[in-house]
Amino acid sequence: MELREAALELQEENLELKEKVRALEKALSEKSKLVYEAPFYWKGNGSERDGPFCQQCYDSSEKQIRLQDNGEDYWTCRTCKQGYPGPNYREADLGEIARNLNGDFKGW
Ligand SMILES: [Zn+2]
Repeated sequence: MELREAALELQEENLELKEKVRALEKALSEKSKLVYEAPFYWKGNGSERDGPFCQQCYDSSEKQIRLQDNGEDYWTCRTCKQGYPGPNYREADLGEIARNLNGDFKGW
């Protein structure tokens, strides 16, 4: 009788643990999922998101390569050498550079 009770308890505990494992696995896969937000991938959501990650490397070989920022929101992948301008990256204003050059140009 006691043995049967013990077995039932173990069975219940086993079910609870399996349920817990399933929930944790789901949370883990949600957390490691990459979300594409042009031009790169991010891991997770909101303020806790991690990244950005290289789109080229992930799409071609499912490698999660962290991108490196040059400080001006221009990101590069050290693996495939791909460069990604971020949303706050500003192209150098070639017109202004040319004007500045002309201003300093004192002739031959
Ligand atoms: Zn890459």
